[in-house]
Amino acid sequence: MNKNATENSSIKITLLALGCSKNLIDCENMSTELKKAGYNVINNIEDSDIVVINTCGFIESAKTEAIDTILEVADYKVPNGNVRKIIVSGCLSQRYPEDILKDLPEVDAVLGTAHYGDIAEVVARLVSEFDDPEAEKINITSGKGGFSHLVTDRELSTDGYAWIKIGEGCLHRCSFCAIPLIRGTFVSRPMEEILEEAKIIAGRGVKEIILAAQDTTNYGIELYKERRLAELLKKLAEIDGIELIRVMYGYMDGITPDLIEVMAGNPKIAHYLDIPIQHGSDKILKAMYRRDTADLITSRLEMIRKAMPDCIIRTTVMVGFPGETEEDFRIMKENLKKWKFDRLGCFIFSPEEGTPAFDMPDQIDDETKQRRYDEIYELQKEISSEQSQKRLGTVTKVNICSVSDDGIFYVGRSYGESPEVDPVIYIASQEEELKIGDFVDAKIVDCSDEYDMTAVTV
Ligand code: SF4
Repeated sequence: MNKNATENSSIKITLLALGCSKNLIDCENMSTELKKAGYNVINNIEDSDIVVINTCGFIESAKTEAIDTILEVADYKVPNGNVRKIIVSGCLSQRYPEDILKDLPEVDAVLGTAHYGDIAEVVARLVSEFDDPEAEKINITSGKGGFSHLVTDRELSTDGYAWIKIGEGCLHRCSFCAIPLIRGTFVSRPMEEILEEAKIIAGRGVKEIILAAQDTTNYGIELYKERRLAELLKKLAEIDGIELIRVMYGYMDGITPDLIEVMAGNPKIAHYLDIPIQHGSDKILKAMYRRDTADLITSRLEMIRKAMPDCIIRTTVMVGFPGETEEDFRIMKENLKKWKFDRLGCFIFSPEEGTPAFDMPDQIDDETKQRRYDEIYELQKEISSEQSQKRLGTVTKVNICSVSDDGIFYVGRSYGESPEVDPVIYIASQEEELKIGDFVDAKIVDCSDEYDMTAVTV
């Protein structure tokens, strides 16, 4: 260890990841950078000298969560607690750097989405200013997005699986979405880099990898001038030790026949797709600037299910978009009944500054938005139960993730359950003791719960 690293080891830092998996990956990279510089990365705000809050700024509720977290951490600042400095990174700081520094005086530095790689430098400067009450606030938020901070040997904070970022930013310009303003336009990560990272992860014994980007189905489009997700999946499946590859965040028109062919034909690639459709009425899809139509969604779902009848398909929809009439909402519900997504997440539209939908006419009142949100979840409960009944009696490989609170069952996920967003499978082991990270065959014996399932090892 060099002299600086030895000195740095006395500085304790906690990193908090808010928002989505992409933010978690960025946090893991920052944590790795800080450890390489010799800092003591811990998981305890109270004992920390510095706290880094990696924020989400996608919608109103995410902004509220970020501000609440900053205020909570501020309570631990000297003289009430031990925390000397607070750094806010990620989407919220990219979007509102001046506002954060002005309105939240407890924050000492803001770091934008192109500057995760500068974290060790920023920490070093803050440490040198520990005893300077007049120190100037740090604002490093020029540019946006990109990959410069990603290292292939990052430390993982997830158990039994690892996220891999394959793209950053977004090529689309959905009228409600602030992501392109925050993360910039879409850039694909070079394939060699992704494969190298996957090999390192597999070498550590992690068997499940999950690919993430704002739109994974666009992978390669600007870098290789064509979509190359299918090729990437094939190459990842050749890596020894990887048992399951999952793709999240696709776009319906990027679900192409060659992609489906590769997914259907390779046992290591999960028959699982996460494809946010956002709405089911053509009028609203058009106002959202989405390229999909209800007919395209219908035909792509047919194509997927024909090639992979066991494919678990997840989606996200939004209610309360400006101009969404009762008739549009009825059409969405009718289509959802027809499309039968296995899993569904619902968002309530929130007007985001800088996006076209912000000042579109016919904004929907909060009560109506909430009612529609509740109705969607009621409807989906029935659809999800009906869909999961189809899995009763099937044998599936399950990744053992933990033991249930009562100690009776193991808790796992099969190809059909993504971590955090999906239900789990409770597994009773017939005889032998299982280890976290094991992949075991299990037969699904109970789907009567609305979401979670029970299985026994076979
Ligand atoms: S596809 Fe649309 S909703 Fe998704 S990140 Fe891109 S612009 Fe936002």
